[in-house]
Amino acid sequence: MIRAEPSQCSDVQAPHPALCKDVRQVGGERSGGAMRAVTVLGLEGSANKVGAGLVRDGRVLSNPRRTFVPAPGHGFLPGQTARHHRGCVLDLVRQALREAQLQPAQLDCVAYTKGPGMGAPLVTVAVVARTLAQLWNKPLVGVNHCVGHIEMGRLVTGAHNPTVLYVSGGNTQISNDPSPGYNIEQMAKKGQKLVELPYTVKGMDVSFSGILSHIEEAAHKMLASGECTAEDLCFSLQETVFAMLVEITERAMAHCGSREALIVGGVGCNVRLQEMMGIMCAERGARLFATDERFCVDNGAMIAQAGWEMLRSGQQTPLEESWVTQRYRTDEVEVTWRD
Ligand code: MG
Repeated sequence: MIRAEPSQCSDVQAPHPALCKDVRQVGGERSGGAMRAVTVLGLEGSANKVGAGLVRDGRVLSNPRRTFVPAPGHGFLPGQTARHHRGCVLDLVRQALREAQLQPAQLDCVAYTKGPGMGAPLVTVAVVARTLAQLWNKPLVGVNHCVGHIEMGRLVTGAHNPTVLYVSGGNTQISNDPSPGYNIEQMAKKGQKLVELPYTVKGMDVSFSGILSHIEEAAHKMLASGECTAEDLCFSLQETVFAMLVEITERAMAHCGSREALIVGGVGCNVRLQEMMGIMCAERGARLFATDERFCVDNGAMIAQAGWEMLRSGQQTPLEESWVTQRYRTDEVEVTWRD
């Protein structure tokens, strides 16, 4: 499996040495016969992370972010999350510029997450992006969050033409200390018994409906009778859900004759998912690409990178169209930057 360098496991990260070199051959704009680098500021805040990242021609110059963490047992609500983002987004922009040693005048574009995501946090970050773009007289580019994940994964791993498994999910009322997915992953490592759970795959469609209800109903009985442990249930949940994802990814690869798979999205950090995907890819003679939480988890650089691609292909978002939308499907995006 091809992965980015190990994470420094911090929410506010310095640029990693591995990314301070070109990871692929891309060029800037031609100006008077010489190639000029194109630098994009990306702002992300569609869920509980808010980040500002700077990307210049395939190099991540800076990528600080912060996370809104509600009290244990509570999910992140839009209003509270937006307040959090409002309180730190400008600090993050300053930090990103400082770490990259850049002035606003050296930027070429401000990219922001147009959607999908939670309304209030999206609006908060879009207002900042619009304001900065007007203050600095830079073009705006509204980016689809999911496309940002995919473009970041491609940049970091160097995957050429992968089948992409995009796995994401954040808002939940499961105890969130430090985060629901991480907690389940850690408990699952201690589980041993596979409890049968609903497994629904039809063609390329999966359904997760009923799985948690099944666990809730069964858990009390099974835990009381000693049939299984909470760790076993976490283990079973992961094994079942991930098996469904691996199955449809393999089917997509078979249909397309694909020899590469790329996992993106916050759940893509899960080591067991990467392991299961790795086994499937090895059996098919394919390569698996994955990133760690610096780039899997929502961040500003992924929006900057997608914005860079869009800007280079001539896309800009006029001010009057720089709204946000909570429902913004990936397949609504016109991809003008790839053949
Ligand atoms: Mg995301």
